Amino acid sequence: MRLPYDKLFENNKAWASRQTEKDPHYFSDLAKSQSPEYLFIGCSDSRAPASVITGTRPGEIFEHRNIANLVISTDMNLMAVLQYAVDVLKVKHIVVCGHYGCGGVKAALGKKHNGLIDNWLRSIRDVYRQYRHTLDPLAEEKVAHVS
Ligand SMILES: [Zn+2]
Repeated sequence: MRLPYDKLFENNKAWASRQTEKDPHYFSDLAKSQSPEYLFIGCSDSRAPASVITGTRPGEIFEHRNIANLVISTDMNLMAVLQYAVDVLKVKHIVVCGHYGCGGVKAALGKKHNGLIDNWLRSIRDVYRQYRHTLDPLAEEKVAHVS
């Protein structure tokens, strides 16, 4: 699926026009403040955008995404998002959402070297190594259910 970058700007302009046609105060109301009830931590996968998979609108979810939706205590980006969401925005719920067929998880468990991303995915590999005896039977069970 090829999408020229200039089409992104065209689509954005068209979307903004539609929003203001439907509601002339749409952007000015959104700009006033945000008070989302949810912090959503999801995967960067382009097929799993939070607002689409949860059916929410702008302003309803505070979102952080990274490859394989990892929560790592040394990730200052995530820790800043988490602190801001809880202390400032006062979110009521935190959702950590994975998805089927995650390329990050597959890469972490594979034998191929993928460059810089291998450092990011190391924690998945570490968890797998530590809990292999528990995880492997689950994978075999899933294969048995599918076949
Ligand atoms: Zn993923």
